[in-house]
Amino acid sequence: MKYDKLVLVLNCGSSSLKFSIIDTVEKKVYLSGLAERLYLKDTRLIWSTSHSSKKNIILFNKEIDHNEILKIIKKEILFKNKELFNRIGVIGHRVVHGGRYIKKTTIIDKKVISHIHEASIFSPLHNPINLLGINFSLENFPKLYKRNVAVFDTSFFYSMKEKSYLYAIPYSLYNDYGIRKYGAHGTSHKYVCMKASTFLKKPFSNINIISCHLGNGSSISAIKNGICVDTSMGLTPLEGLVMGTRSGDIDPSIIFFMYEKLHYTIKEINELLINKSGLLGLSQSTSDFRDLELNYYSDERAKLAIDIFCFRLRKYISSYFSLMDGELDGIVFTGGIGENSSLVREKSLKNLSWFGNIFVDYKKNNNSFKKNDNLIIDISKNSNVPILVIPTDEEFAIAKESFSLFF
Ligand code: ADP
Repeated sequence: MKYDKLVLVLNCGSSSLKFSIIDTVEKKVYLSGLAERLYLKDTRLIWSTSHSSKKNIILFNKEIDHNEILKIIKKEILFKNKELFNRIGVIGHRVVHGGRYIKKTTIIDKKVISHIHEASIFSPLHNPINLLGINFSLENFPKLYKRNVAVFDTSFFYSMKEKSYLYAIPYSLYNDYGIRKYGAHGTSHKYVCMKASTFLKKPFSNINIISCHLGNGSSISAIKNGICVDTSMGLTPLEGLVMGTRSGDIDPSIIFFMYEKLHYTIKEINELLINKSGLLGLSQSTSDFRDLELNYYSDERAKLAIDIFCFRLRKYISSYFSLMDGELDGIVFTGGIGENSSLVREKSLKNLSWFGNIFVDYKKNNNSFKKNDNLIIDISKNSNVPILVIPTDEEFAIAKESFSLFF
């Protein structure tokens, strides 16, 4: 059978689902959409196509789960754009955790499914939902059965050496159970690095970047010669930077304190560190960075949350300088916060002149630019390291990776 070249991307998150139909050769997005607030009483589905400027919206006024929304997307969007749907030759799925065994983008078969399932132990919120999208696609699009591809957030990090991915705990925990640093956001870090390499006119295999992906989840990676040497997320996406609702780095003893002295259950501690900490826990008001920024000067707690967020980021950036062996081609900011918050970029790069001239141009940094502009902006001034703001596009990156396995 001859297959056409469009890629359907399914990115099933814990409470949202992004989908798009992309031509990676022409770099054209034909259709893109988002289902959000799944499992809440006001689920909504928004999508648009390239042939119309109209934004289509369905508001549900009831709780909708992943399976139900996938059925609606199939019936109301994909099947109603039959011509486009028939040109899909590959389906790319985002999978958060590849676990011990899957180290690269892979065509999905039963064995891959069982490995993704096994890796759910390290990503209980995401892998089962990623699998749900995969199973839906296998059952509902039989002509494309063997054209389903899994793109893992963890793949980019398998290049890390033992000294960076091993925790200093008994080696047997790694050997017998795979307890190690796996990282996350790999698709985004790799994508912005590739963009930086084009922008800086330096081959990807020679590029040296400190990449900051700052969104609801945040992570930072040190990339040397196009290969990741260290990253802030760990066994799970809980380690590292301060995030929307996740704590990032803490002393593990805090867990014992909560368990032994406060009598929290393990489930409660897990919930506290994943869903009630980070910016939300510190501010006691919201995990939304934009809202906190609006109140930076009027609300002490909002200021504290942002200051801690930036302080932790600055510590990581500084420590990653030391991993670059004196060769750094750029510092990249991406993700909802990285692309939009001039305050974060300014504060996290403050007083780094110890490492060379690293200066933010106040004016360029404060120029707001639209995410969809797909522009790369260098916000540095008299700096020996470019500071780049690069919009990430995980869907496009997933499409490109998936496409490359067949064409
Ligand atoms: P996700 O990790 O869910 O993909 P995003 O990358 O979309 O998240 O980032 C979401 C975060 O970006 C939110 O905290 C949001 O408030 C923040 N954000 C979005 N736009 C802005 C803005 N203009 N200024 C500051 N923060 C912003």
